[in-house]
Amino acid sequence: MSDADYDYDLFTIGAGSGGVRASRVAAAHGARVAVAEEFRVGGTCVIRGCVPKKMLVYAAHFAEDLEDAKHFGWDVGEPRFDWKTLRDNVLGDVDRLNGLYTQTLDNNKVEIFHERAVITGPNEVTLASGEKKTAKHILIATGARPHVPSCPGHEHGITSNEAFHLDAIPRRVLIAGAGYIANEFAGIFHQFGAKVTLINRSDQILRGYDESVRDRLLQISLIKGLEFRFNANFEKIDKQDDGSLLVHMSNHEPLEVDCVLFATGRVPNIEGLGLDDVGVKLTDKGAIEVDENSRTSVPSIYAVGDVTDRVQLTPVAIREGQAFADSVFGGKPTTVDYACIPSAVFSHPPIAGVGLTEAQATQQFGSAKVYTSDFRPMKNVLAQRNERSLYKMVCHPETDKVLGIHMIGPDAPEIMQLAAVAVKAGLSKADFDATVAIHPTMSEEMVLLK
Ligand code: NDP
Repeated sequence: MSDADYDYDLFTIGAGSGGVRASRVAAAHGARVAVAEEFRVGGTCVIRGCVPKKMLVYAAHFAEDLEDAKHFGWDVGEPRFDWKTLRDNVLGDVDRLNGLYTQTLDNNKVEIFHERAVITGPNEVTLASGEKKTAKHILIATGARPHVPSCPGHEHGITSNEAFHLDAIPRRVLIAGAGYIANEFAGIFHQFGAKVTLINRSDQILRGYDESVRDRLLQISLIKGLEFRFNANFEKIDKQDDGSLLVHMSNHEPLEVDCVLFATGRVPNIEGLGLDDVGVKLTDKGAIEVDENSRTSVPSIYAVGDVTDRVQLTPVAIREGQAFADSVFGGKPTTVDYACIPSAVFSHPPIAGVGLTEAQATQQFGSAKVYTSDFRPMKNVLAQRNERSLYKMVCHPETDKVLGIHMIGPDAPEIMQLAAVAVKAGLSKADFDATVAIHPTMSEEMVLLK
């Protein structure tokens, strides 16, 4: 079969971050591209993830900002918060972004099928309408969805998907999990006035982040009034006559709440795609197995993003989509470099990190040189807010090369993006020391570490 005999050069399933980037770039390289999306163009990040979540984080921050304002001379009266105004404005912006993503695909002449597609051959997909389409290459970019523990009554809980659509902020919220989503929504709900309890199956929060910054978030959260229950596994959730939920868990007393939010990881969307029939292999964790070029066990079929469970972050999915399109359609063989990926948790206050933690560096090199700055940001001093930031630099024990940077404090993700450039470039502590501080800032602490 010659290329021209196929309906398309590329058929992408899933119009999220990875799928849209791959489709758009492939089309810009001259490929004939179609994409099938059964929900909305934009994917998790834009529709029910990073973007609307960040807007809620901004909104939540006003609670403290308005309180702090009086120490800066402002009389703001008695602030009132209206969830529905925020919710509708956020959802309105999601609609706008959905439109922009669709427009991007249209502008690049990518044909969109707003329906489900199933792979029915190495070069064939069948749409929900029954129509069959052939393509030289198929890209699976179907992402992931929230994992919900299978305890009796789990159907009474919600996930982050539904959190953006609530009719009201629940008075008492139980958040299951202690990872990214749990800590971000804990901050959001707490700032909006809910009584928040996080429960986790293990005894730690944010596994993978540096221990000192995790501990600092836990301490700050406890002081703010959030509650934590560790080593707790769900047993059952009973819906009571008044609509409240009674949650039974191991090692702890039952807890009565008005909402249970599951934030217990995400699982790849592989069901009903026809993967078995066509011979696409899966990993032990049920994700699509790919090589460094994002190619699956079927040579004409590729996969990018969360469905492959490499690093579940939007910018990584975007890079995978770009590398795929450049390699396959642009004559520019490219692989994604997974080293030193910075990340952030938009908790209250936020956490950010890049490179090795102190524990990882010690394990790898026998020891590590660690420099820390533990300080109260100037704004917090005047606001009489006793909340301290912590910056930590982890260096190679002999060469002083910076192996990792970890921070918690206001704007940590903003600061980290640029600090990560230095770590990625392999700079040393001496390079940071040689850089003159910008005073007064919080980030100057990074070049003043002793
Ligand atoms: P995380 O992987 O961050 O955290 C999962 C949490 O749930 C952990 O506390 C884990 O416990 C617990 N858990 C996992 N499996 C189970 C289970 N079977 N039963 C009970 N508890 C369980 O997942 P999230 O859901 O918070 O987020 C999903 C992914 O989305 C993240 O990995 C991240 O990559 C991405 N994301 C990124 C964001 C960002 O960049 N700011 C924001 C939101 C999401 P334990 O640690 O004890 O194993």
